Amino acid sequence: MDGRALAAKIRAEVADEVERLGGLGLATVLVGDDPASDIYIKRKHKAADEVGIRSNDIRLPEETSEDELLDLLAELNADDETDGILVQLPLPGQIDEARAIRAVDAIKDVDGFHPLNAGQLYLGQPTHVGGTPRGILRLLDEYDVELTGARAVVVGRSDIVGKPTAHLLLQRNATVTICHSRTRNLAEETRRADVLVVGVGVAGLVTPEMVKPGAAVVDVGMNRTPDGLRGDVDPAAMEVAGLMTPVPGGVGPMTIAMLLENAVRAARFRRGALVFPGR
Ligand code: NAP
Repeated sequence: MDGRALAAKIRAEVADEVERLGGLGLATVLVGDDPASDIYIKRKHKAADEVGIRSNDIRLPEETSEDELLDLLAELNADDETDGILVQLPLPGQIDEARAIRAVDAIKDVDGFHPLNAGQLYLGQPTHVGGTPRGILRLLDEYDVELTGARAVVVGRSDIVGKPTAHLLLQRNATVTICHSRTRNLAEETRRADVLVVGVGVAGLVTPEMVKPGAAVVDVGMNRTPDGLRGDVDPAAMEVAGLMTPVPGGVGPMTIAMLLENAVRAARFRRGALVFPGR
């Protein structure tokens, strides 16, 4: 499943939509100088610029206090030119991530991390859902993977990848199993999956023997190894799977394209073209 090609198509659609909306603004906040976060933020801004989204790249020093960050977020919430806000995680230890996430106005929360957006997803009435889970579902749809009644196994239960992806699959009427580090027999679970989504952070965790022949496999893992960027699934599983995402070139580009789509969605919510609960 080619995430690069699909992401390019989506970015072109977003560019048209941004033009129709007469422009929109996305602010990102990076606290500290984590090199991986710096790379992600740069990619997001480059992609935003290319589709005509005004992007505001706010960088704060590592020693920024929680109050300073909360003050900045309050300013961005009140700023009419800012449609979407993204706080890059992880945050330095002196800042409570949950508080920072709650401090972003839910209508501008393009990552879907705010409890209101997470709750709407749980209720089956999604508002903002993060780029990674939405990108995974979009890829499966692009390749006509049947979800209704399918046995879907999601390995990983993070708030960013596993949980929201499992909810989206459930809403699409898959029979969903969520696995994690305490799962007793991971291979037994994954071998039953018609649709297997792996977001763990352990290079090559899923071997070819753990994949059901013909399954659709989505590898979310991005692991920096001495041999370069590697996924959570052994590339040899491609021989067993019916469809599989490569790393790189699978979920990564989709995450960014869907973030841009989420910025458009935020602008639509704010301008009343879509109804945001309670507004
Ligand atoms: P995370 O917060 O560390 O969560 C990892 C999850 O994997 C946890 O639920 C953990 O279980 C589970 N796990 C750990 N070891 C396991 C094992 N041996 N067997 C089964 N489950 C295991 O990580 P994350 O933020 O979700 O990210 C996961 C991976 O996706 C990383 O490689 C990350 O870089 C990548 N990622 C990629 C994108 C993209 O755009 N492509 C976006 C986000 C993340 P417990 O809950 O029991 O600890």
